[in-house]
Amino acid sequence: MDVYGLLGNPVGHSLSPPMHEAAYDELGLEARYVTFEPDQDALAAAIEGADALGVAGLNVTIPFKQEALEIVAPEDLATRIGAVNTIDFSGSGPPTGYNTDAVGALRALRDHDVDLEDARAVVVGAGGAGRAVAFGLADAGATVAIANRTEPKARQLAEAVPRASGHGLADVERLLSEADVLVNATSVGMEEDATPVPADALHGDLAVLDAVYQPLETRLLRDAAEAGATTVDGAWMLLYQGVEAFEIWTGRDAPVEAMNEALRSRL
Ligand code: NAP
Repeated sequence: MDVYGLLGNPVGHSLSPPMHEAAYDELGLEARYVTFEPDQDALAAAIEGADALGVAGLNVTIPFKQEALEIVAPEDLATRIGAVNTIDFSGSGPPTGYNTDAVGALRALRDHDVDLEDARAVVVGAGGAGRAVAFGLADAGATVAIANRTEPKARQLAEAVPRASGHGLADVERLLSEADVLVNATSVGMEEDATPVPADALHGDLAVLDAVYQPLETRLLRDAAEAGATTVDGAWMLLYQGVEAFEIWTGRDAPVEAMNEALRSRL
């Protein structure tokens, strides 16, 4: 029996257990996915303990993603993003840390036939999700404009991301007129029916990914669909970060459809 899990605090409402267990069921794997809620100051002990107990892999979520970087051996992309959300214990050395949020966003877009090579992308938000998406898009060959409510954070991030520029939210309308891809990586749209992007700035040549997945159909995605844009909801990004983690841990292709069904039936 292989044990996988999620480290976070709180983790009560996580959709990762049903999504991963659907994959184990589909492939007939003897495995379980469980949630752990260590105290805020107990992350290192939790990771070392999991390693000692033979846990096969862990996801990491709020508030531990940044601190985890200091405890595991991070991959280059996770180091650049500044956060680890997946830990693999299968090697003989220290556990390896990955950030699958970046790949999750890329796979979500590619799954909707969005070509990222030489694409002009606008990322709204420069928090954890914004950092992951900006580095991911740049690695995929896109030119990235990062716009954030707190403009200095966008400028600082843009200095670290290849070919990127940093902006305040006032520039979004202008940036979008020439863009192919828009990603909302803010939490706007989650608590209320609001959008970080004016509806008139959206157009039919855009692909719009909203990282927000609760609700699935945000105001931004409704506006984007009305403008004739390709829309990609946040559950696709959530799905593919899990798919990527599954594939890192098991070395097998994930049963994407079964995982997607398990996830969407709970949203
Ligand atoms: P975070 O690190 O706290 O960053 C929040 C971001 O939202 C910051 O850029 C912040 O701007 C911006 N923001 C918050 N309130 C705003 C407002 N009223 N107007 C404009 N901007 C506002 O959070 P995060 O971890 O990046 O998560 C952001 C969203 O992405 C959440 O909804 C989360 O659920 C979602 N997410 C989804 C996935 C997925 O797999 N689908 C993965 C990760 C995150 P300031 O810097 O100015 O405060």
